[in-house]
Amino acid sequence: MEDVDDRADNSLLNKLIRRSLVESSQNVEVLQRDPTSPLYTVKSFEELHLMPALLKGIYSMGFNRPSKIQETALPMILADPPQNLIAQSQSGTGKTAAFVLAMLSRVDVKKNYPQCICLSPTFELALQTGAVIEQMGKFCEGIDVVYAIQGNRPAKGTIIEAKIIVGTPGTVMDWCLKLKLFDVEKIAVFVLDEADVMIGLQGYSDHSIRVKRALPPNCQMLLFSATFEESAFCFAERIVPDPNIIKLKKEELTLKNIRQFYDFCENREAKYRALINMCRSITIAQAIIFCQTRRTANWLSQEMASDGHVVALLSGELITAQRADIIQRFRDGKKKVLITTNVCARGIDVEQVSVIINFDLPVTVDGLMDYETYLHRIGRTGKFGKKGLAVNLVEKRFMHILQDLEEHFGIQITRLDTGDMDEME
Ligand code: ADP
Repeated sequence: MEDVDDRADNSLLNKLIRRSLVESSQNVEVLQRDPTSPLYTVKSFEELHLMPALLKGIYSMGFNRPSKIQETALPMILADPPQNLIAQSQSGTGKTAAFVLAMLSRVDVKKNYPQCICLSPTFELALQTGAVIEQMGKFCEGIDVVYAIQGNRPAKGTIIEAKIIVGTPGTVMDWCLKLKLFDVEKIAVFVLDEADVMIGLQGYSDHSIRVKRALPPNCQMLLFSATFEESAFCFAERIVPDPNIIKLKKEELTLKNIRQFYDFCENREAKYRALINMCRSITIAQAIIFCQTRRTANWLSQEMASDGHVVALLSGELITAQRADIIQRFRDGKKKVLITTNVCARGIDVEQVSVIINFDLPVTVDGLMDYETYLHRIGRTGKFGKKGLAVNLVEKRFMHILQDLEEHFGIQITRLDTGDMDEME
C-alpha cells in the first residue's frame, strides 16, 4: 500500500489539477440511520431551498446539478434536525463541495463566533478547502474563514470571531482545548475530511477524537473518506454517532477499450529507437511514457530532448505543486509527451491521452509482473468509451512476463513491428 504521505500528496495533487467532476456510472449505496424514513434525493440545487446568495455562489462555480454523491448526501446533510453522515467516494466526486455547502448553509452570519470546524490532514489541504468555502460563499455576506494550521498562532487572549475554522487536528485541538480561542460548545457543524489519510498520520486520530469529545451533543458530524478500509470505517464510527452512511463505488479500471501491443527490443537503446520510430510514424495526440526507475526516466527525457522532442518529465523528486504544474501543462496540450515513473500511474486522469507507452514493463522487486500497476498505467487511457492504445517495449528476457500479463487479464497483446508502423493506423 502507498504510504500516508503519498496519500496526502496525491490528494493534494488531485485537487490542484482537477477541473471537473469524476463521472461515475455506479449507484450510491445508502445505509440510513433510520431505515423507515423516506430517502430523499435531489436532481437540482433549487430543490434544496438554499439561500439565494449561496445558490448564486454554486452556479457561479459552474455547477449545474448535484453530482451523484451530492444527490443523496445533500438532502441528508441539510435535513432538519441535522443528521450525521459518513460518506465515502473517490476523490473528485464532489464531497468537498457538499460539506462546504453544508457549512455555509448552517452559518448564522449575525453571530460573530465560530460555528463550523473542518479538519483536514495537511496544511495544504486545509487551504484548498478554505478556498472552496470562499469561492462558494462569495455572495454570502459576513462569511469568514480562519485557518488553524501550524504557524498561525493567535496571541494569547485572542477571541476568534471567524465563523468557520479550517485546520489540522493538532492545531484545532490546541485552539479549542488549550488556548481556548473560541467556545467549542457553540460549534454546529463538525466536518472531518479525508479520514483515510487522517488515520495514518501520527496522533491525528487522537486529536480529532479529543476535539469531537468537546463538541456539544447536538453538533452535526460529517465525515468523508476517499477509500474505506476497515480501519477508516472503525475510526469513522468512533467519531460519528448514529450516522447515515453513503458509499459510491469506484469506477473499475478496465482494459476493454485499449488495444495493446508489444515489440521486442534487445536493450535500452533499441527501445529508444523503437520509441522514436513510433513517435515519428503515428500521429499521437498525447502520450505518457512510463519508466520503471527515475534514472531511466531522466535519461529518456534528456535523450528525447536532445533529439528535438518536446517532452515533460514528471518525477518523484518534485514537490506536489511542481508536479501539478507539469500535469497541468500536459493537459493543456503545451507538452505532448509526458515521461514518468509510477508516481503518476495512480489517481490522475489525463483524459485526452490516447497512447501509453511502457518503456519498461512494471515489475515488482522480485522481478514478477506487477499487474496492478499495469492496470493503473494503462487504465489512464481508453476512458469514457474512447479507444486507447498501449505499447509495451519488452526486452527479450522479460518475454515470460508478457505472457503472464496476457493470462492474468485474459487479453491478447499483439506483436507490433516498430520498424514498420503502417499496421497501427
Ligand atoms: P472531492 O472532495 O470528492 O474530491 P470536489 O468537491 O473537490 O470532490 O469536486 C471535484 C471537482 O468537481 C471540483 O473541481 C469541483 O469544483 C467540481 N464539482 C463539485 N461538485 C460539482 C457539481 N455539482 N457540478 C459540477 N462540478 C462540481
